[in-house]
Amino acid sequence: MECRDGCAACCIAPSITSPIPGMPDGKPAGVACVQLDDRLRCRLFGRPERPAFCGSLRPALEMCGSSRVAAFAMLKELERVTAP
Ligand code: SF4
Ligand code: SF4
Repeated sequence: MECRDGCAACCIAPSITSPIPGMPDGKPAGVACVQLDDRLRCRLFGRPERPAFCGSLRPALEMCGSSRVAAFAMLKELERVTAP
């Protein structure tokens, strides 16, 4: 599937433990990444500074669901089951 325009659920819902430019300690779950622009697109897309975690996430029905709300619900659950 294609990534939904204006979604960014996977740039907000999950925690990221590696440094992100502007967020040296990574980001907590549920907090929008500072690299999202005002159209909810990644400013680092295609650049080496983009965390490997982000590159590992691919749009897929199991993560993105059929709506932005569904994606948030699925990612929140994923965060819960993978919490240390
Ligand atoms: S959750 Fe899926 S559709 Fe939404 S921004 Fe991430 S990859 Fe794109
Ligand atoms: S670096 Fe880009 S892809 Fe990764 S969470 Fe931030 S905005 Fe999303």
